[in-house]
Amino acid sequence: MEKIITVLLTVMMAGSARNIPYVPAVLHPPVPEEARLNLEDVRLLEETDQGPEVTPGLFEGDLALTDELYNYWRVGIRWDVMPQRMWPNGTVPYVISPLYDIPDYVTIYKAITILNSMTCVRFVPWNGKDKDYLIIWPVKQPKGCWSYLGRYGGPQIVSLQPPDTKGPNCLGGEGRSIHELMHALGIFHEHSRADRDQYINVKFENIIPEYRSNFNKQSLENTTYNFEYDYNSIMHYGQYFFSKTKGQPTIIPKKQNVKLGQRKALSKTDCLKINDLYGCLNKSVYQNRKYHILCDILGY
Ligand SMILES: [Zn+2]
Repeated sequence: MEKIITVLLTVMMAGSARNIPYVPAVLHPPVPEEARLNLEDVRLLEETDQGPEVTPGLFEGDLALTDELYNYWRVGIRWDVMPQRMWPNGTVPYVISPLYDIPDYVTIYKAITILNSMTCVRFVPWNGKDKDYLIIWPVKQPKGCWSYLGRYGGPQIVSLQPPDTKGPNCLGGEGRSIHELMHALGIFHEHSRADRDQYINVKFENIIPEYRSNFNKQSLENTTYNFEYDYNSIMHYGQYFFSKTKGQPTIIPKKQNVKLGQRKALSKTDCLKINDLYGCLNKSVYQNRKYHILCDILGY
């Protein structure tokens, strides 16, 4: 059985490789210069033992911003202002790099299958023709796990770095792939919600100064939240992300006994959030019920 799966995947990977565009090992995304990570920060991050998504040195740790988006980010994204950031009909063509080993390919494929089965969003293999699509690639520079926010237009990188002896590992489980794919769908980090101060204390004095903006809030005028604050979200930072000093938290939850920063699975609310954003809940009474039940049963 395992052999059959391996053969099938090899065929699939070879098939998808035919159409793959050239992707350079080093990318120069239009990321604001001041948001880049310097060597000193890399040292700090290594010492404080944090998740791989905090290391690329992009906006909010793992979000690549275009110049246009950089001007917008302080107010957050409104779909009615920037509807082009949505994937039309919730259809997201993708290519997975043939550079991945089969276990890493399977991990990414699993993340896609989970999102496809729990929501009405459809990640579909790129047909070689669609103008806008995701290229899931182990980018060498900036390395780590990162993504653009929403549909950027044209081929768009989602960087998922495979394990190596030193570097961060985005593929230990499907959770980090899900997190980055959710950014590509247009979802921000949970802790940047406008109402977050009711739920968490952000300890700005403990955050590496260059990364304090990763903890900014989005304006309530420009964003809407239809669900309760979700400590359990796969989109929430952990308690020590971007900490200057080991053991000094950057986020303290106001509720007791909650754990932040899980990267295992879609929470029930993450699942509802995607379904809500892409209109899956108001297609029909049946669909509404279907996705509520799916999120409730399969959500973490
Ligand atoms: Zn993120």
